[in-house]
Amino acid sequence: MNNIIFIAPPAAGKGTQSKFLEKKYNYVHLSTGNILRDEVQNNPLLAEDVKNTIKNGGLVSDEIIISILKSKFDSIKGKLFILDGFPRTMVQAKELTKILEELNINNYKVIFLDVDKDTAMKRTLGRLTCSCGKSYNKYFEDLKPSVDNICDECGKELFVRTDDTEEHFYKRFAEYLEKTKPIIDYYKSIYKIASVRSNYDDPKDAFEELENYIND
Ligand code: AMP
Repeated sequence: MNNIIFIAPPAAGKGTQSKFLEKKYNYVHLSTGNILRDEVQNNPLLAEDVKNTIKNGGLVSDEIIISILKSKFDSIKGKLFILDGFPRTMVQAKELTKILEELNINNYKVIFLDVDKDTAMKRTLGRLTCSCGKSYNKYFEDLKPSVDNICDECGKELFVRTDDTEEHFYKRFAEYLEKTKPIIDYYKSIYKIASVRSNYDDPKDAFEELENYIND
């Protein structure tokens, strides 16, 4: 079974697909976005500029995010993992290759979750998030929570991310095109990438496709 690394535009469904994988195959889900949102909520020492960067849809510095990721890897030794939201720059991608080599991990697949910009925008503007990492969508009947604003899985209240606005979506999409998309060529050069379409209204359709790759 392969470890999974997701590369994707905003709202492509990385979090949703990660939750499916976590449930069915027992992966550890490492979402750098969730980790950072937790830090913003619970760490009063986190620098103001880092908080503002996350709130406004910019990218946190490579140095900070790499050091967070390394400490997470220390805590999940030996377990199958999904990386959701890392790497997002070429510096992070190359550093990740080094980290994985040092840890002797070569059973991993990079999955590019492909979605068009209009679909991603609609998903962003309808998204309701839970601090447990699960997300819902008020614009898609099948993706609404059973009880308004309450997570089906953990019962906590859902919230709208500060960066899930039209203005921040455009910023995040531009960051993706400039800094993250070029990583795809890097992974093509080391034969590690597969592409899965994530344009469907029902995320289970993309999951079916995704499952073809994880045991490959
Ligand atoms: P996400 O939940 O993956 O959409 O991430 C939310 C936000 O967290 C991003 O818009 C960035 O501000 C920050 N973030 C998450 N992962 C990274 C990363 N690998 N590098 C830099 N910033 C990140």
